[in-house]
Amino acid sequence: MPRPTRSPIGLHRVLAPEGALPQAAHRLDATPSVQEGEVLIRVERLNLDAASYRQLHTAHNGDGDTIRTAVAEIIAERGKMHNPVTGSGGMLIGTVEAVDAASPLGLSAGDRIATLVSLTLTPLRIDDGLARWDGLSEQIPCDGHAVLFSRSIAARLPEDLPDELALAVFDVCGAPALTSRIVNRHRELTGTAPTVAVLGAAGKSGSLSLAASRDGGALTTLAVVRDAGEAALLDKAALADEITVADATDPVAVSDAVHRALGTGADITVVCVDVPGCEHGAILATAPGGTVVFFSMATSFPAAALGAEGLAADVEMIVGNGYTPGHADYALNLLRTDPAIRTMFEARLAAD
Ligand code: NAP
Repeated sequence: MPRPTRSPIGLHRVLAPEGALPQAAHRLDATPSVQEGEVLIRVERLNLDAASYRQLHTAHNGDGDTIRTAVAEIIAERGKMHNPVTGSGGMLIGTVEAVDAASPLGLSAGDRIATLVSLTLTPLRIDDGLARWDGLSEQIPCDGHAVLFSRSIAARLPEDLPDELALAVFDVCGAPALTSRIVNRHRELTGTAPTVAVLGAAGKSGSLSLAASRDGGALTTLAVVRDAGEAALLDKAALADEITVADATDPVAVSDAVHRALGTGADITVVCVDVPGCEHGAILATAPGGTVVFFSMATSFPAAALGAEGLAADVEMIVGNGYTPGHADYALNLLRTDPAIRTMFEARLAAD
């Protein structure tokens, strides 16, 4: 079947396998010139999603040079940053270089933007070999080009925030918007305010999800964190009503910690951890009839589905769709209105 010459969802950029959408494709055509309906971006910085970066860091024993080589090879081979192990990508920022007249995105040459669609479907070519990156952080300063299709989303970079901070917020902005939607839905359906437990609560998506829960009118917010250091950080930030320490990959420990803190399971559990193996703890920690939001890209569908069945757990499980209308503005507003969130993000960026 010949490739379409123009497709709003980027079918014309798929090189292999034939018939796949760009996200599922193995390889994309990342030629840096605009075709009909497209926008060409001069890339300045990538943000690898946390699960992808952690996997690369672990697989290469934390050796920055090897991690850099691995990422450069993935991009060169696939024409996009699509981690073959985690299946996840990230986001990028850059400057619009060219816009085809048929593009509906409302962007102009010179606009500084963040893409709000995953790197796993964004044609990407790197020109500097990632030479300015030490391989030891999720964010990658670089030079190259990327392409947006007609059916894509992008946000202009805010002028009041540093680029690195805005990029980190945009990367996880789906989490607070979805959490807020689920909290509001619970209130509308039951007439009561829900309890919300957030696993990985001291991380980027975790701290924003805590803030969104409170903003949405949760009865109690419970932060589940890895260790005493993260607990102290969150305590200082005052983002959660309760804080408990548990290894999110230990199902019994997580469930016990949540039941001890809330007196029962959580109405809503949001999984924001960046390691695999958190499905069963989240399910056990959730009250019957409650909802688990799996925002983590390290989530296994079989582990969640079969785990819930095996535990006879009547919980709704939601895949954390990275897109909810208004998600970018909502996340930025949470960050702007609560200085503690900004402090937590800045601390993570500085630690990278
Ligand atoms: P992050 O800032 O690195 O936060 C992850 C948190 O989980 C950290 O505080 C980490 O602690 C903690 N953690 C790790 N292992 C743990 C364990 N065994 N027990 C308890 N806590 C543990 O990550 P993020 O950027 O918020 O991303 C979180 C997840 O969302 C990732 O899987 C990412 O890929 C995913 N994501 C999803 C979407 C989507 O569209 N659904 C978009 C972007 C990202 P330490 O720092 O001490 O390790």
